[in-house]
Amino acid sequence: MATHKLLLLPGDGIGPEVMREVEKIVGWFRKRGVGFETETDLVGGAAYDAHGVSISEAAMDRAQQADAVLFGAVGGAKWDSVPYAVRPEAGLLRLRKDLGLFANLRPAICYPALADASSLKREVVEGLDIMIVRELTGGVYFGEPKEIVTLEDGSQRAVDTQIYHTHEVERIARVAFDLARKRRNKVSSAEKFNVMKTGVFWRQVVTRIHKGEFSDVELEHVLADNCAMQLVRWPKQFDVIVTDNLFGDILSDIAAMLTGSLGMLPSASLGAEDPVTGQRKALYEPVHGSAPDIAGKGLANPIAMIGSFGMALRYSFGLLDEADRLDKAIANVLASGTRTKDIAAPGANAVGTQDVGDAIVKELEALS
Ligand code: NAD
Repeated sequence: MATHKLLLLPGDGIGPEVMREVEKIVGWFRKRGVGFETETDLVGGAAYDAHGVSISEAAMDRAQQADAVLFGAVGGAKWDSVPYAVRPEAGLLRLRKDLGLFANLRPAICYPALADASSLKREVVEGLDIMIVRELTGGVYFGEPKEIVTLEDGSQRAVDTQIYHTHEVERIARVAFDLARKRRNKVSSAEKFNVMKTGVFWRQVVTRIHKGEFSDVELEHVLADNCAMQLVRWPKQFDVIVTDNLFGDILSDIAAMLTGSLGMLPSASLGAEDPVTGQRKALYEPVHGSAPDIAGKGLANPIAMIGSFGMALRYSFGLLDEADRLDKAIANVLASGTRTKDIAAPGANAVGTQDVGDAIVKELEALS
């Protein structure tokens, strides 16, 4: 039986609380014969307190050796004044950089039971299931020059530089087309080819990869601003949206809000395929932060974290039946009304973090 190596990095604030619920789910699958080997280490403020850095070299080594990293959340007022290089977020950035995680996957799923929690009408969002694939390591956030310069006349000029290389667009396009094949077989590629050279280039490269390797998948090109509008108008027209770092940042937040609470949103970041094993380095994390306002109170919604583990089942371990069962268990628990405060129906009693984890384990049991 294959053993899947998981590194758990709970982090700070509600991170450890929601990670404990994932451990229950891992334990349940383990009892059912799925081989998981877990290690736990420190990241963020917790690592700073113990080691004076936001992630230790030993933890980085473990992350390199793991089949998947599960990351909780980092940060909090306690570490607001630590030196910039060792601030809690630096641990996450180091992981992304050293593991080469160039593809950020953010699903936006609207469970029928939560359709009324969205700011859009029920019929617009109910049953929504889209995936935003954002290029994560290139583009305008990293391009040089990046500066504010003072000119001879005393005025100033600010510059950010959007740069994309062929291989960067090719590899993110392949991730998107691959995913689409396992979903509803459609990719929408968003850029601004009408006003940006990188947009013209993005469109050319995506078209070439489509023609050469994925012509069975439906491809449409959409201007990023129109994509934003369409996401709010009729999001169910989309399956997989692939886009660059900047547009992806914005479009994924719009898509996120279609679904209700931050406590519901998982994400995955994937690296290049290993030429020998075909495995990708991968990190799975909820979209939310360490939520200091509710930390330690047992109020956090663990579904974003548990859903992130579900993505690991699907994308790192190929355990599709197990991932489907976990998704179904989450949907059933939500439909039964067992919900934390952030998503509780008006007037309904909210339950705690552990209750939701327990209910999902019970539902997994009932489904098997
Ligand atoms: P946040 O996501 O931590 O919280 C925003 C709001 O959403 C809060 O009211 C919080 O209570 C609520 N919330 C978040 N997750 C929830 C959950 N699972 N269940 C119920 N409610 C939930 O964002 P913030 O308040 O802007 O940041 C707090 C800290 O987290 C800061 O230090 C920030 O730097 C850090 N942060 C870390 C990450 C990360 O680790 N990836 C991401 C974002 C923010």
